[in-house]
This record gives sequence, structure tokens and C-alpha cells, in this order.
Amino acid sequence: MTTMESLIGLVNRIQRACTVLGDYGGGDNAFSSLWEALPSVAVVGGQSSGKSSVLESIVGRDFLPRGSGIVTRRPLVLQLHKTEDGSQEYAEFLHLPKRRFTDFSLVRKEIQDETDRMTGKTKQISPVPIHLSIYSPNVVNLTLIDLPGLTKVAVEGQPESVVQDIETMVRSYVEKPNCIILAISPANQDIATSDAIKLSREVDPLGERTFGVLTKLDLMDKGTNALDVLEGRSYRLQYPWVGIVNRSQADINKNVDMIVARRKEREYFATSPDYGHLANKMGSEYLAKLLSKHLESVIRARIPSITSLINKSIEELESEMDHLGRPVAVDAGAQLYTILELCRAFDRIFKEHLDGGRPGGDRIYGVFDNQLPAALRKLPFDRHLSLQNVRRVVSEADGYQPHLIAPEQGYRRLIEGALNYFRGPAEASVDAVHFVLKELVRKSIGETQELKRFPTLQGEIAAASSEALERFREDSKKTVIRLVDMESSYLTVEFFRRLPQEVEKGGNPTSSTVDRYTEGHFRRIGSNVSSYINMVSETLKNTIPKAVVYCQVREAKQSLLNHFYTQIGKKEAKQLSQLLDEDPALMERRQQCAKRLELYKSARDEIDSVSWAR
Ligand code: GDP
Ligand code: MG
Repeated sequence: MTTMESLIGLVNRIQRACTVLGDYGGGDNAFSSLWEALPSVAVVGGQSSGKSSVLESIVGRDFLPRGSGIVTRRPLVLQLHKTEDGSQEYAEFLHLPKRRFTDFSLVRKEIQDETDRMTGKTKQISPVPIHLSIYSPNVVNLTLIDLPGLTKVAVEGQPESVVQDIETMVRSYVEKPNCIILAISPANQDIATSDAIKLSREVDPLGERTFGVLTKLDLMDKGTNALDVLEGRSYRLQYPWVGIVNRSQADINKNVDMIVARRKEREYFATSPDYGHLANKMGSEYLAKLLSKHLESVIRARIPSITSLINKSIEELESEMDHLGRPVAVDAGAQLYTILELCRAFDRIFKEHLDGGRPGGDRIYGVFDNQLPAALRKLPFDRHLSLQNVRRVVSEADGYQPHLIAPEQGYRRLIEGALNYFRGPAEASVDAVHFVLKELVRKSIGETQELKRFPTLQGEIAAASSEALERFREDSKKTVIRLVDMESSYLTVEFFRRLPQEVEKGGNPTSSTVDRYTEGHFRRIGSNVSSYINMVSETLKNTIPKAVVYCQVREAKQSLLNHFYTQIGKKEAKQLSQLLDEDPALMERRQQCAKRLELYKSARDEIDSVSWAR
């Protein structure tokens, strides 16, 4: 193998690996851009122009469904891998990775079946490609794409849109600048009507990546020939036209094999009075060599950009490997260490949320700054201290003997009744902060990359945190309720001492006794209680946050996982390894990542050696 052959083979292997790993087309990661940077060859042409036949003769094997009507209904991405001389030839489908096909008629059947699986046994088409690899000593390293033929009208069983759908699909392949276009036109039709040339001219106006292929030379009307086309006089391309004689339908029906077909083709040109002088530049074997040579030069020109893409991919893979983490340790000590490390990683992120490195902690302040004051404002003191209610409560407290001076009992009952209302907002603040903390735990778990591989441990940490938060909430509730209760257990004497003086000061000395049982009297009581309650409300607005932070936020920061740590410390080796039970999908991802990394690294080395070789 020449160095260049091995380079094309390498590119092929990378493409294959990209395909297996699902990194082809559409994606925006480095891998799919690598795939896009690698050249491929697509066949374009009208239906039954001989596309599949040309591909087959390039491969030198019968394996494609051919015939009249719409036969190719899904793109076929065909990768040819040249293997050591004498080695067994086989084919492999991406969708059947375990199965090696050595009987190529079964390959054809599988292409048909797999097409039908996607489209049903109809004449419908699908843009989802079938990926096929052929490993053989008799092929050149190439990636070829067989596409459905361009048509002009929808036939029975096809939706009206099919003509446009096919064109769009074909165009999506050939418009990529790395796509080498094999434009197939049948010689028994005027080149001016060629669909292949029409489309390729649109996407490659200068003909820089279009190879003109003329099939069915043998079917031309007697007395005519295709020299005008083949010699570039009809339609000029940068590369010379290649004429081809594939097997006719009759040959196919008679099972004429490839070797015979190639020999016949050679003979056809050698003995043709029209094309004899071009014989060494005609035929499928020549086309295969021409393509492979062209591919070499394309790849050579692309080496720098391919290398830099490979390097970029390697970087990405390495950082992904770091993310995914190395394989898990086996002994209990190391496992315990790993678990604690993972817990700490989570805890760090959780703290960052609280302290402000990450968002969310501010929502706790939001509870204190908005929610609590709003809830306090909304308490129904107006109703509680309405004239009617004050009169009722005071009178009830008086019993049979109306109060003589200030209604001590009445005041107490009104105040106690009002203070009770504070429990609601106090508990609501505890709950609100609890939910913020819970949400932050959830977020932090999600953001702890290292934990992603261990869903079991993730679950345990979530459960332990939530249990701890629940405990903190209980404690916090008790504390804030206590704050409220404390307010009712001992009233601020100072406040009441000031009251009567204020009333009497400046007023009519007898008025307080005179209007004791009038509305004004009860209104004054109501307003006194109201200002007392306002004072308490101000106090609680300040103390509830302190209690909540002390019991919930501070505890969460300091000891969220403490209980969990003691439990872990008591666990047996087996239980520990259960905690480090990796997500199988992740394990898989790491393996893939490692495989890919290996591939890219060897690709880099190979490319280095090849590009220095010349
Ligand atoms: P596709 O639809 O473009 O893939 O065309 P196929 O490769 O399936 O060929 C369509 C039909 O044309 C088949 O029956 C082939 O045998 C026949 N055919 C293709 N190329 C040639 C050729 O060069 N000479 C003759 N005689 N028949 C051909
Ligand atoms: Mg076909």
C-alpha cells in the first residue's frame, strides 16, 4: 500500500468511526465537522441512468439493487475499505453491526429490506441513509454515496411531492463543498436533457468537483456516437469525461458476473471504431482509479485542516473524558474516598448557590424582602380591630363587671388574638425558604458533572439532603413559632405605660371617663392595639429571617450531608460499590469516548507520518 492509499484508508476509517458513533452530518460538534471535512463521492443522475450499476462496477461486486423504475429509494453511504491481499471479502451494515455478509446477494437483499423497513413496500423515498461498509482487497479506499434518481413526475404510489423531495435530498449531499459529484448521464439521451448535468452545474458551476460519466454507450442508435460529449465539446468539465458500458438488464437477468462484465467492457472499448483511441481512458476500472487519484489530491490539500480538526477533536475528547471521570476504584477505602469526594463536589456547588457564585441564593433574600413583608401587610388586622370586634372582645373580657379604667383583659385578648395571626407568615417564610433550598439542592446535583455517572449515589445524596432539609424546616418552624409565642407571653410594658399619659395629656381630664363606653373609647383601644401590633410586626419582620437563616440556611451550609457521612462511614464494601453503580449509558459513553480518542490519536500519528513522508 502506498502512503497515500493508507491515508485515504485512514480517512475512510475515521469516517466509518464517525458514522458508527453517530457523528456524521447535521451535528455541530467537532466530529461532525470532521466528517464534513472529509471528501466523499456521490452519484447523481436521472432515474435508471445507471448510477447503481456504475457504483457496482467501481466496487467490482454485485450487491446493489438495480433495474428499471425507482429502485434506490434511500441514500446508501458505501464505504470501501481496502484490506490485505488475499483476505476474505465481506460487507457490514451499520444497522447490523454484528453481522458479516460474505454473500453479496444477501447484501442486496438486506439493502432492499432495510429500505422497505423505512418506507414500506411502496415507491416512497426516505432521506435516512443506509450505511454499508465493504472490506476487500479488490477495492480502492473510497466513500461513495448512491442516491435515488432524479425524476420528473410522480408515478402511481408516490406522493406529488416526490420529485421535489428527491431533488432536495440529492442536493443536500452534492451541495457540500467536500462532495465529489459523479454526474451520470445515459448516452442514449441528449446530453442537453441530462438531470445530472443540470443539478451539478447549479452546485458546482465551474465543474471543479464534477466527474462526467456517460453510461449506456452500447445502447446508442446505430450510426451515432458520443465523441462530442466524451471529448468535452458538448459540455466542458475540468476533468475528462468517462464513458462506461454497464451490464444490460438482459445481462443482469442472465447473472453475468462482474469479471465477465468488466472484460466485456474492456473489449467494447478496445474494439470500438469510435472510441478505440480513447480506450485507455474509458471504462469503470479507469473511473475507479481516476476517482481514487482525485481523492488523494483532495485529501492532500485538506491535510492541514483535517489535522487541525483532529487535534480539536482530541482536545474535546480529552476534556470530555475528564468530565466523565476515570473508571471507578475497586477497594472499599478508595471507594469511600471517591464517594466523599463526590459529596464534597456537590456540597461545593450547593454552597456557591447560597453564597452567590451561582444564582438562586438571592431568592432567599427575596422571601425576606418581599414575601414576608407582603404577607404581614395582608394580615386581617382591620377586621380584627374593627370597632365592632373590639367592642365585642372587650365586653366579653369584662364579663358582668365592665372595666373601670383601662380594659386590661380586653387589651390582652385583642393582642393575643392578633398575635396568633403572625404564625401564618412565619411558617410560610420557613416553607418558602425550604423550597428554595430544595430547588438549589436539585440544581446543584444536576450541575455536579462528576455525579452524572453515578445515578444511585445521586439519588442517595438527593434523599439525604432532602431529609436534612426537612429536619431543618421542622426546627425552623418551631423556632419562628416560638418567636411569635414569645411576643404573646410577655407584652412590652413600656408601650402601655406611655398610653394613658398620652390620652390624658392635653385632653379634658374627665373625658377619658366620660366616653369610656362610647365609640371613641373603643376606637382608641383598637388603634392602640393596632400600633402595638405594628410594632410587633416590625420586630418579627426582622427576627423571623434571623431565625430562618440560623435554622435552615446556616445549617444547610454547614451540615447538609453530615448525617449522610456518618451513615456512609458505617457501610460495608459491597454497599459502597452499589452506591458507585455507574449509569450504564455513561459507562458506554466513556468507552466510546476512549475508543474515539484512540482512533483520533492514531489518526493524528498516521497523518503526521504520511505528510512527512513526501
Ligand atoms: P439507476 O436507477 O440510475 O441506479 O440505474 P441502474 O443502475 O439501476 O440501471 C438501470 C437499468 O439500466 C438496469 O436495467 C441496467 O441494467 C441498465 N443499464 C445501466 N447501465 C447500462 C449500460 O451501460 N448499458 C446497458 N445496456 N444497460 C445499462
Ligand atoms: Mg439506483
